[in-house]
Amino acid sequence: GCVLHWFRNDLRLADNPAFTAAATKAADDERPLLCCFVICPNQWQQHDAAPIKLDFLRRSLIELASALEKLGKPLFLLTADDFTTVPKVLEDFVEAVDARALYFNEEYAVNEHRRDQAVAKRLKPLIECVHSYRDQSILPVKSIRTNAGEPYKVFTPYKRSWLEVADTSPISLWPKPSKSRNPDKKLISAAAELSVRADTAKAIDSAFSKLDLIDSSDWAAGEDAAHDELEAFIESYAEDYDRLRDRPAEDGTSRISRFLANGTLSGRQCYVVATEARRRLKSGGASEDAVKGISTWISELIWRDFYIHLMTDNPRLSMHQPFKTETDKLKWNDDEAGFEAWCEGRTGIPLVDAAMKQLNQTGWMHNRLRMVTAMFLTKNLFLDWRRGEQYFMQKLIDGYLPSNNGGWQWSASTGTDAAPYFRVFNPVSQSRSHDPDGAFIRKYLPELASLDNKSIHEPDKNQRKDCGYPEAIVDLKATRASAIERFKALG
Ligand code: FAD
Repeated sequence: GCVLHWFRNDLRLADNPAFTAAATKAADDERPLLCCFVICPNQWQQHDAAPIKLDFLRRSLIELASALEKLGKPLFLLTADDFTTVPKVLEDFVEAVDARALYFNEEYAVNEHRRDQAVAKRLKPLIECVHSYRDQSILPVKSIRTNAGEPYKVFTPYKRSWLEVADTSPISLWPKPSKSRNPDKKLISAAAELSVRADTAKAIDSAFSKLDLIDSSDWAAGEDAAHDELEAFIESYAEDYDRLRDRPAEDGTSRISRFLANGTLSGRQCYVVATEARRRLKSGGASEDAVKGISTWISELIWRDFYIHLMTDNPRLSMHQPFKTETDKLKWNDDEAGFEAWCEGRTGIPLVDAAMKQLNQTGWMHNRLRMVTAMFLTKNLFLDWRRGEQYFMQKLIDGYLPSNNGGWQWSASTGTDAAPYFRVFNPVSQSRSHDPDGAFIRKYLPELASLDNKSIHEPDKNQRKDCGYPEAIVDLKATRASAIERFKALG
């Protein structure tokens, strides 16, 4: 018999609770440790996984498999069409390799949760134990509660309570896994009967060959790259985070979201590196601003935890439902042309269009611009936030359901602790304050590059004509007022 670790959104060896526990169990029982990953083409399509995100996943698996091979622990790739067939695929594999215990880290969206329950049920007669571990958030889900034992619905008190817990019981990383036996030839060939051994990049590429992929090579993949980027950011940029994080033209944020989204990095690792750096800065007498930069960055990690916690406590959030149920009565516009213009970056609002080009061309968008484009779609075009949420998922390399849903519901004022409906961003004012010299707009809308710093945010009729740039598809003032009215009418 062997012990099986099932990798999912935890594509790393360090600070991986289920992987460490599986290795410990294997060592204790003197059994070999085997690792697998399940490719789910149809499910991923149903979940709108972006082709660039899937390519990044492929490359992350190449890095993971190579690290595992070095430890003598091959990774095996199974394929199941969708989540409903995962239990059967795993059952066959478990039988073939005679696995006695299965380990994995929890996932919280509804379909993932149901899949895991079905797997546990199906394997029960075959296996001694199925063990799952809390991993996605820094502090375990369901651990941050009000005095009345209720989940928090507002970020600021949640954060206060979060920091109290983190300060009183410091967050530690999971130890490196114990040495366990490697699978022998017989076990490897039994596993390879039902799966692809991921021992070469070519083998992994062939397992991904039926998936629609877009080259992600501008974004480094793998655990080593993730730590390099995290540390480089903390060393060189985090002190300026507070000042630069809202400037899309600057390298002001870490861009590590893709690693957190597929678990190449854990939130705990980010938190530990950041708090250690802050401690060093404080003891070295650094300026208050520098310390504040890191604290603000930590706050963003806590936002991520907040959205994970919200989704766990409110499963309906992963079922296309608004947090504020009354907002389901809103009659969103039916404007296909407007939606397409937004998707393609042809709205005639330079900052919105430049942002959508950034998303379409790179698979990533700056946080300030995610808010600006989401507000524009839901308030000025008054289109259903779910359409924007889906489009982002289809394009983002870091698409992550809790954060994407949280960000969209925040912008659409349908979420808990969301932007109040009467606080509608004006994308032109946002452009003037966050891209003052138009450097970001110039990069993604080269047709506007010759305009001066003032007109680039809102070119006049003649300038638009000269540059071949469209008129704005909406009147910002009128659509803002109408959106506010429509929200107000909900009572
Ligand atoms: P940094 O500023 O360096 O922040 C560090 C980390 O903190 C990020 O990597 C991320 O994991 C987390 N974080 C930062 N801001 C937020 C936030 N507002 N909410 C939750 N977590 C945050 N983030 C995703 O990871 N995936 C998504 O699909 C996603 N969709 C979004 C959709 C909308 C409409 C909005 C407004 C925000 C969305 N975000 C999403 C949050 C945020 O925009 C990105 O996490 C951030 O831009 C990633 O860049 P970074 O790694 O440089 O972030």
